[in-house]
This record gives sequence, structure tokens and C-alpha cells, in this order.
Amino acid sequence: MRADPAEFRLVSPGDLQVVLSLLASEPTEWLPIAGGTDLMVLYSAGKLPNRKLVNIWNIPELRQIEVFPDTIRIGAACTYTALRGHDVVSREFPLLAAAASWTGGIANQNRGTLGGNIANASPAADSLPALLVYDADVTLISVRGNRRLVYRDFHQGYKQTALAADELIRDISLPRRFSGYVSHARKVGARNAQAISKVCLAALGIIANGTIRDVRLALGSVAPIPLRLNETERSLTGKKIEPSLIGAVRQSVVGEIRPIDDIRSTARYRAAVAANLVVEFLEKLAAERTRA
Ligand SMILES: Cc1cc2nc3c(=O)[nH]c(=O)nc-3n(C[C@H](O)[C@H](O)[C@H](O)COP(=O)(O)OP(=O)(O)OC[C@H]3O[C@@H](n4cnc5c(N)ncnc54)[C@H](O)[C@@H]3O)c2cc1C
Repeated sequence: MRADPAEFRLVSPGDLQVVLSLLASEPTEWLPIAGGTDLMVLYSAGKLPNRKLVNIWNIPELRQIEVFPDTIRIGAACTYTALRGHDVVSREFPLLAAAASWTGGIANQNRGTLGGNIANASPAADSLPALLVYDADVTLISVRGNRRLVYRDFHQGYKQTALAADELIRDISLPRRFSGYVSHARKVGARNAQAISKVCLAALGIIANGTIRDVRLALGSVAPIPLRLNETERSLTGKKIEPSLIGAVRQSVVGEIRPIDDIRSTARYRAAVAANLVVEFLEKLAAERTRA
């Protein structure tokens, strides 16, 4: 059942305060649209419940990437193309740049935004594990003011988020303190391009005096929300990477995730791949230490 355009209203004020006032006036009626790459799929299928859309693509405050001495602040309406092309993002946040590079195809990367990926809250979304390991904060904005939230508290259940109906994600801040870390990003899908992840991993680690000083692991597509592997991280910290550790790590990863069978994969496959990806990362971390 395709949607009838005559039933929809789209406005484009081009001004943040006007957009916020509109959202506040009828919060459950108006829906922000950024790149439209998720919304237009719903629209085409006749499954978009809202009939009033407000464009946020042309709001300058949401399109900037600002670099400060300790943080980088990414406007929510920045595209994957903007992220891929940004010097500091590519150099200091390679996990995010990698996720941007394998999100859809080029056309999708020219329109799709980081804020849209977060708000759409798919457990399979590719950039979200990177935001978890980089300790992102998000700023939410409404006529009531700004509030800053630790990103790991944003997703509250399958497609449930901390975002109120009258709020926009304004920006995403990442601390600039991970450039010395070994990073590993992996997406496993049916093919390399244009595939939704069966499992995706973002991992960071650093070794000091032969033991793991800090390790950060996040997975997509293995639970109702993007998942940070807190227990596995704890069990690895302070340890030497040696063969005897690997079996326990596999068990710990499988114990923490909650994969399901769906159209793209099975829970069993996802569990096996998730454990393999973490082990692959640890082997890379160990090899980097040997090289250092
Ligand atoms: C062909 C194709 C391939 C794709 N491949 C991938 C892939 O490989 N990996 C992946 O992760 N995703 C993929 N996607 C999904 C999509 O491109 C991303 O989720 C994208 O980041 C969505 O951003 P958008 O700006 O287009 O969101 P929109 O469609 O504009 O909005 C999506 C949702 O977010 C809300 N929203 C948007 N911006 C804000 C904001 N600033 N504040 C509050 N709410 C907001 C909207 O109201 C809506 O509910 C694909 C989509 C298509 C069509």
C-alpha cells in the first residue's frame, strides 16, 4: 500500500527555534525529517504514521562539526559523507569513519545523518557501537532548553529512546582521548555493500606493560539495543592476551548478548560471529603490542 502525498504536509522553516516551536505545539503530530533515508522507506511503504513533517536538513546549527581541544562536536544532521571527509573524525575516530563508509551506498551517505541513525534506533545501525566505545554524549534540545545525556543511556529498549516527542538531537560530542588506542571495526553482512549488519563490532584497546590497560567493546545486531560488553571488558582488563584467555572470552561474549533469529540471520550464527570478532580484535591488539 503506497502513501498518498496529498495526505502529507512538509514544512521547511530553516530556523532551529521555529522548528522547536512547531514540535512543542503538537509534539506527537510533527516529525522531524533530516536525510529522509529511513523515513522515506516507511513513507513509500505506506507505514509512516505521522502526516506532518518538518525539515531539519537545512538548519545550520545541526550541520556543523566543531573541534575543541578536548572534544569534537558533531551536529546531528551531519551526513556520513561529511564524517568520512572530516580530517579529525578520520584520524581520531576511525571506528566512526569506518561505519560511515559502509553505511548504504554513496547516495545514502550523501543524505543519511548521524542523528537520524541514532533517533531511528535500529539495533543493527552501524554507527552506534562506535559512539558507545568513544563515550559519546548527546545534546537534546527543545523549547524547554538543552539537556546533555550520556549516549549509553539514550537507548532504553527496542526502538525506545530517551528522546521526548518535542526534542531534537542537536549534537553528538566525543572526547578526543582515544588516538593512542588500537581500533577494530567489523561489519558482517550478506555482502560488503548495501547490507544490513548481521553483526557489527566497534572495539578499542590499549596495552601497557604487557597487560590490557583499557578495552572497549560494543556490538550491533545482537540485542534489542546496541550493546556495550561491560562484563567482558571487566574480565579482560589487567590481563595478558594469551591462549588460555580466549575460551573464557568467547563464553563471556555469548553470555552478554541477546541475539535473535530473524530474516537476516540466526541467533546461533550471530553468537558465534560476535565471539569470533572479539577474539579477532584481541589477536590484533596482541600483534600491535608485539610490533610496538
Ligand atoms: C538503501 C539504504 C541503505 C541503508 N544502509 C544502512 C546501513 O548500512 N547501515 C545503517 O546503519 N543504516 C542504513 N540505512 C538506514 C539510514 O540510512 C540511516 O539510519 C540514516 O542514518 C538515517 O538518517 P536520516 O537523516 O536519513 O534519517 P531520517 O530518515 O530523516 O529520520 C529517521 C528518524 O530519525 C528522526 N530524526 C532524524 N534526525 C533527528 C534529530 N536530529 N533529532 C531527532 N530525531 C531525528 C526522524 O524523525 C525519524 O524518526 C540505510 C537506508 C537505506 C534507504
